[in-house]
Parts: sequence; C-alpha cells; structure tokens
Amino acid sequence: MHEVSSNRIDEYYQKLKKLSARKGFYFNRDHDMVRELLKSLLINMDRYGYASCPCRLASGQYKHDKDIICPCVYAAPDIEEFGSCYCRLYVSRDWNEDRILHVVVPERRPSEKIEAGIRALGEQQP
Ligand code: SF4
Repeated sequence: MHEVSSNRIDEYYQKLKKLSARKGFYFNRDHDMVRELLKSLLINMDRYGYASCPCRLASGQYKHDKDIICPCVYAAPDIEEFGSCYCRLYVSRDWNEDRILHVVVPERRPSEKIEAGIRALGEQQP
C-alpha cells in the first residue's frame, strides 16, 4: 500500500495554499477531506510524475493528462460558475461561507479527452 507521510501532506498543503491564493481559490473548509485529496494527489505524483486529479481517471501519459493536473484547467470556470471545482478541493469564499448552494459540479472535461485517455490506458495493457 502506498503511504504518504503526514509531514509531506502538510508541506504540500502550505505550498498549494500559496499558489491557489494567487488564483483566488480557497481550500474546502472540510480539512479532513482536503488532506485525503492532497494525499491522493501526492500518490498520483509518485505514480505518474505529476499530480493528476484524484477524481478523474488518468492515462499516465502527460500529453493526455495535462489538462487534469491540479489545479486543472477546469477549476477556474467551475469555481466561477458553481463555487467549487469538480472534486471540491478548491472552492470560492462564498461556497465555504454557505452563501451559495453546494451543487454537484458536472464534468466539464470534453468527452474526446476522456476517451483519448481511456484509449491510451488500454494501449498500455499487456
Ligand atoms: S477538479 Fe479540483 S482537485 Fe481535481 S484537478 Fe481540478 S482543481 Fe484539482
């Protein structure tokens, strides 16, 4: 089983907090959920060499996955429209303070990209 130390999650939290603040994103107020998502991101980082979205299937090939490296290219429009990203890792201030409804964010990633990733994954199977 892949272990990620608590210290490593803490360091990653601080790093992403600074980066996301510049974009106007906030971590979800559910700290335990945030830590679980950060742990999954670090596992993907170790597995693929980049932190692909923990809520989406990665192909393991950068060219197919680059749009879903966290924070993904869909985060800003999703936070703008729905108040949170697809995984709810990042949210708006209004979302965290219950000033807007917490809706399920629909997948904004184009189906062609999802299908290309699945094909690439299939080609890697022996
Ligand atoms: S949906 Fe959220 S957690 Fe997933 S890659 Fe995008 S910003 Fe990161």
